[in-house]
Amino acid sequence: MRLYYQRPYDSEFSARVQRAWSEGRTHYAVLDQTLFYPTAGGQIHDTGTLNGIRVLEVREEDKATGQILHVLESPIAEYTEVQGKLDWERRYRHMQRHTAEHTLAQAFWRAAGWETLAVNMSNPVCTIDFSGQPDEAVVRQGEALANWAVYANTPIRTYWISDAAVEQEGLRRAPKVRGQIRVVEIEGWDKVACGGTHVARTGEAGPIKVVKYERYKGGTRVYFMAGWEALETFVLEHSILSRLGEQFSSAPLEVERPIANLRSDWYNLRGENTALKDELAERIMRELLAEFPQHTIHAQVSENVLDAVGKRLAEWPGVLALLVAPSGDKTRYVLLKHSSRPENLQALWEEVLQPLGARGGGALVKLGVLPADSAEKALQRFRNAAKGA
Ligand SMILES: [Zn+2]
Repeated sequence: MRLYYQRPYDSEFSARVQRAWSEGRTHYAVLDQTLFYPTAGGQIHDTGTLNGIRVLEVREEDKATGQILHVLESPIAEYTEVQGKLDWERRYRHMQRHTAEHTLAQAFWRAAGWETLAVNMSNPVCTIDFSGQPDEAVVRQGEALANWAVYANTPIRTYWISDAAVEQEGLRRAPKVRGQIRVVEIEGWDKVACGGTHVARTGEAGPIKVVKYERYKGGTRVYFMAGWEALETFVLEHSILSRLGEQFSSAPLEVERPIANLRSDWYNLRGENTALKDELAERIMRELLAEFPQHTIHAQVSENVLDAVGKRLAEWPGVLALLVAPSGDKTRYVLLKHSSRPENLQALWEEVLQPLGARGGGALVKLGVLPADSAEKALQRFRNAAKGA
């Protein structure tokens, strides 16, 4: 027996274990009655305990028997009386999500004739897939209508009908099940076939916030949050905006402008910095060419310009060079030659840098790192090796 239909606000119950068994490390129980909702209709299962044993998952065994499987953390004895306890915080949020889904689906139907094609409420950010094309005005109107329905605090009731009576019932969507059909009615607002759990009045499901929408399978997927989960998100977002505002001496809702200014400053400075680096690299290259007339160059440079100087030197006819740059707890290096030089760069690297513990590689330009204290040693070894070459 599904107690959650009769007593959707109860979180504790007594029951008798009808069947219990284990398959490997997974343990199952079927009860004569339960408050645990099994995953179905876009709503995920409850969690909680049976006699203190964690209920990890709940699912319908199969449609034919309609029996509900409780997946347990450890085994439980058959034919015993058990006390069941729901994780109520979790269930209540599911009830809020589900009620908000009905409310929002009807609101979009009224706002623009959008039909609900599919729903998912497994996560705090829930989705409804609608038939209509993405449209900002419709989304804002649907959201507003749904919240008006929340503030109307309308009662929600459930009842069963036979499928023969479906036609004249005027449901928003055709039922997916046959036989006895459960109707969930938000009085004067919405009527739909649903097997889920819901709050007693619409006011408990609010606020309802559309957080995003996008084109999906030829229609629109609307993402929404409801109840506590919506409120918690706003609280978090507001505190982030407030902290950002403090950093920019700005009100939370006016923080966009200083951030935009910062971005534009940053782009300008980056451009300037690149230009200055280029100019500096050019000067350093000229100095090195003047300092080493044979164009066999070895020098320590600043890390900021290592790559740029290396790149320029590699394009200068007749150059063979080793540049090193201290960089925190290591030394970066560039070993390079112009294609006009006869030396074998790989052999030079193996002779000069590899014994010092160098890492890295490359064909005409070798980039990599050395241990921090080996900058001087590397330059010394290069000088000796290049002399012999
Ligand atoms: Zn429902």
